[in-house]
Amino acid sequence: MRKITIVGAGQAGLQLGIGLLKQGYAVTLISNRTGAEIAAGRVLSSQSMYDMALEFERELGLSFWDDSCPPTTGVHLRAGNEQGLLIDWRARMPAPGQSVDQRIKMPRWMAEFERLGGRLVIEEAGLAELERYAAASDLVIVASGKGEIGKLFERDAERSVFDRPLRTISLTYVHGMLPREDYSALNISVNPGIGEYVNFPCLTHSGAGDIINLECVEGGPMDRWDEVTTPEQHLALAVELIERFFPWEAWRCRDLRLTDELGTLVGRVTPTVRKPIGYLPSGRTVLGMADVLVLNDPITGQGSNNASKCANIYMNAILEQDGAAFDDAWKTATFERYWDYAQWVARFTNTHLLPLTEPVLKVHGACADRPELAATFANAFNDPKILTPWYYDSAAADRFIASFAAA
Ligand SMILES: Cc1cc2nc3c(=O)[nH]c(=O)nc-3n(C[C@H](O)[C@H](O)[C@H](O)COP(=O)(O)OP(=O)(O)OC[C@H]3O[C@@H](n4cnc5c(N)ncnc54)[C@H](O)[C@@H]3O)c2cc1C
Repeated sequence: MRKITIVGAGQAGLQLGIGLLKQGYAVTLISNRTGAEIAAGRVLSSQSMYDMALEFERELGLSFWDDSCPPTTGVHLRAGNEQGLLIDWRARMPAPGQSVDQRIKMPRWMAEFERLGGRLVIEEAGLAELERYAAASDLVIVASGKGEIGKLFERDAERSVFDRPLRTISLTYVHGMLPREDYSALNISVNPGIGEYVNFPCLTHSGAGDIINLECVEGGPMDRWDEVTTPEQHLALAVELIERFFPWEAWRCRDLRLTDELGTLVGRVTPTVRKPIGYLPSGRTVLGMADVLVLNDPITGQGSNNASKCANIYMNAILEQDGAAFDDAWKTATFERYWDYAQWVARFTNTHLLPLTEPVLKVHGACADRPELAATFANAFNDPKILTPWYYDSAAADRFIASFAAA
């Protein structure tokens, strides 16, 4: 039986590990935290996921929350400032999305992994441990997210567009947000040059709630999170920023309370692409995965979706290898299969970290009176590949827009 060791019990590592167990592989999963510790810890993400990524979970029998997680059924995108709105359109998604708090999901999946016969080891993997796993396994995959061990993989200077964070990101999990008047949505508001406010429903420890994502331009007037020392101050600042910079959303936020004391997070992400192979001192090699290799700012909510898609691609590549060695050529080719998709996610995400471009403004302007164009864009969160070329090229945007009838 082929032995695979995966470092990191997150979306990517668990989904791949469970998939491989179901195909008869001997899988060891290394996690630096127990399920109980993850469940009792701070929120990790806002983890909104869309149909294609959710389907990969469903195929593995991992969608335990389809009945209990409130769905996200549409997209509503607005751009403006205190003076008013310049862009305002909405559309239903072809299939609903969902956000299950990773503090619920990962412990449940860890239990499922063990139930299926996987070996779960709780330890912090460093270089010495990687050497040990590599000596004892046919393949070692590092799916440690933003963990330090990921630095084993060299930054790819050609594929990495930025070398610093462009946003300070604040998450606030709340109860008491008034529902939208139409349908639940990935509710995006852009205040150009200042930041973005993204909100959607979620399932957390205390039931259905909403997540407030504030993306604050570095050094700008929303980037005030250093002032905050308590969860209550965090919530108060989130509401203050919404009232000031996204006043059209303030009515929903008059009576908010935190879901729990650990329902807040502040962080910064340097979007980075890394090379797929990590070299150990012994000369053995390991393969990186998901956020380890393609880390994006969460502004477009794609990282968990990427992790699910990466798990699916890696699993197929492992199965196709059958009895053959997982050599460096295979490792490189496997990542390139993932990059063939992930590059479009990085492009979509990086585009939204910079001032809005001419084609982006044209497309969103046109979405307001072209419902089928709006519906097409709403599906981009499920598959950002569809945005090429029309989201990045002004002439292509004109042609694409003209192919939709105005309402
Ligand atoms: C604020 C914020 C909001 C986000 N919102 C969204 C969103 O709405 N939608 C979306 O799709 N994505 C979102 N993301 C991104 C998403 O959470 C990640 O991209 C996704 O979780 C990556 O999955 P992963 O398996 O690669 O890594 P992770 O989920 O980070 O899992 C890695 C695991 O490895 C463990 N680990 C790390 N180092 C070691 C070690 N040395 N030894 C053992 N274990 C180790 C970690 O503890 C962790 O459990 C958001 C991220 C942030 C920060």
